[in-house]
Amino acid sequence: MIIQKTENSRISSFDPENYSFGDHFTDHMIICEYENGAWGEAKLMPYGPLPFSPSNMAFNYGQACFEGMKAYKDSSDEVYLFRVNKNFERINKSAKRLAMPEIPEEVFVGGLKALMDIDRAWIPTGEGKSLYIRPLIFATEEGLKARVSNKYMFAIVAAPATSYYSAPVSVKISDYYSRAASGGVGFAKAAGNYAASFYPTQLANDEGYEQIIWTDDSTHEYFEESGTMNVFVRIGNTIYTPPTSEKILDGVTRDSFITLAKHKGIDVRVEPIAVKDVLAAQKDGSLKEIWGVGTAVVTTAFKSYGYQGENFELPVLSEEESFALSLKKALVDIQTNAAEDPFGWREKVEKDVLQTV
Ligand SMILES: *Cc1c(COP(=O)(O)O)cnc(C)c1O
Repeated sequence: MIIQKTENSRISSFDPENYSFGDHFTDHMIICEYENGAWGEAKLMPYGPLPFSPSNMAFNYGQACFEGMKAYKDSSDEVYLFRVNKNFERINKSAKRLAMPEIPEEVFVGGLKALMDIDRAWIPTGEGKSLYIRPLIFATEEGLKARVSNKYMFAIVAAPATSYYSAPVSVKISDYYSRAASGGVGFAKAAGNYAASFYPTQLANDEGYEQIIWTDDSTHEYFEESGTMNVFVRIGNTIYTPPTSEKILDGVTRDSFITLAKHKGIDVRVEPIAVKDVLAAQKDGSLKEIWGVGTAVVTTAFKSYGYQGENFELPVLSEEESFALSLKKALVDIQTNAAEDPFGWREKVEKDVLQTV
């Protein structure tokens, strides 16, 4: 790895007690370029803008995918990553689906650890704080012919993230728009999936909903995801989440919630969730919780939902009563080294990794 350290650290302009997510990026970034059929040597360099022309193929034809992960500090300032291999495997699934070259493990994992080590001072500590990490791959060739690019860039950037708390939101169950289609790219973390979700989300916002629960594109009768998160529903004391598919992204948080719930003896069913079954459970009082899960906030609980013009309230549960909140706590405790990690998910970032890469 080529190492080019910054001579102008911006860390003194970062107040770890007072910032919001996305305001600050750490001192360094990783980049690695692909051309002539091969990835070059990864480079750790000062964070900053890169020059691209408007005819860059990523801008025109959308070959771009990304990952979202976090690094956490424990009470003795040790740094931990979480289930890195899941994100590594997933970025390559996404890349493959978008006809982009897969990234070698030493570039992804080696780059990640080097960046976390050199920028460890940027990882905030305290309740709910962490460093959000964004690995991405995008086309970089100039050209307007609609074809696969021959040049790509892999990059990793990182930004301090704030509290996990997100207030319960109201959601609209979609009966028209879809996030993903059969044979499409829903399972990939393709940048374009986000672009396509913004407009329907704006329409839902105009109706007073913060997010959308996406339903299947052919019948709109089954839940798929909520916003950019996987979705869970609790009926009685059983929790349900739809099976992953080419239309449902295989979230690391979703998988961790399923494992933790089983470990706690909660009845978990990975099966399709029909809108009509949710409405029937609402009617008979057995619908307890609906929530979304993803790396960024871990859990967003829903307080109400709308379906075809009607609004429904969900019960208000205490932290002890809520499965969403107790599973979230169990997960965060493992991520931040505040609890045992029986699953081997946590990985410590050793100091001075740069000496060895
Ligand atoms: C990233 C993402 C998720 C959550 O995945 P995690 O690995 O848990 O962060 C869920 N759904 C979509 C559409 C996503 O892009």
